[in-house]
Amino acid sequence: MRLHANDNVMVTKGRDRGKQGHITRVDSKHNKVVVEGINIVTKHQKPTGAFQQGGLIKKEMPIPAANVSLLCVHCSKPTRISYRYLADGNKARVCAKCEEVIE
Ligand SMILES: [Zn+2]
Repeated sequence: MRLHANDNVMVTKGRDRGKQGHITRVDSKHNKVVVEGINIVTKHQKPTGAFQQGGLIKKEMPIPAANVSLLCVHCSKPTRISYRYLADGNKARVCAKCEEVIE
């Protein structure tokens, strides 16, 4: 998984295409991400023990990681991620466009 929590991404496919948001959760097992304000579904929740209130609940659902592009903090464009080894031997994510280190 090339994306991390708190990354700022743009949705490139689907209903929320063109929208931006921060990743709140990464599901690397299923290659999905949850993005703040993206892919919101309304659930009709019945009042049960855990949900006393019931009614309509808005919830962000995971979307495929392939459907989002990382927004580079340096050139602020949606970009692909490449990797580079730093002088200290650590691997860093870099923007494929401006080649600045993303973190
Ligand atoms: Zn960049």
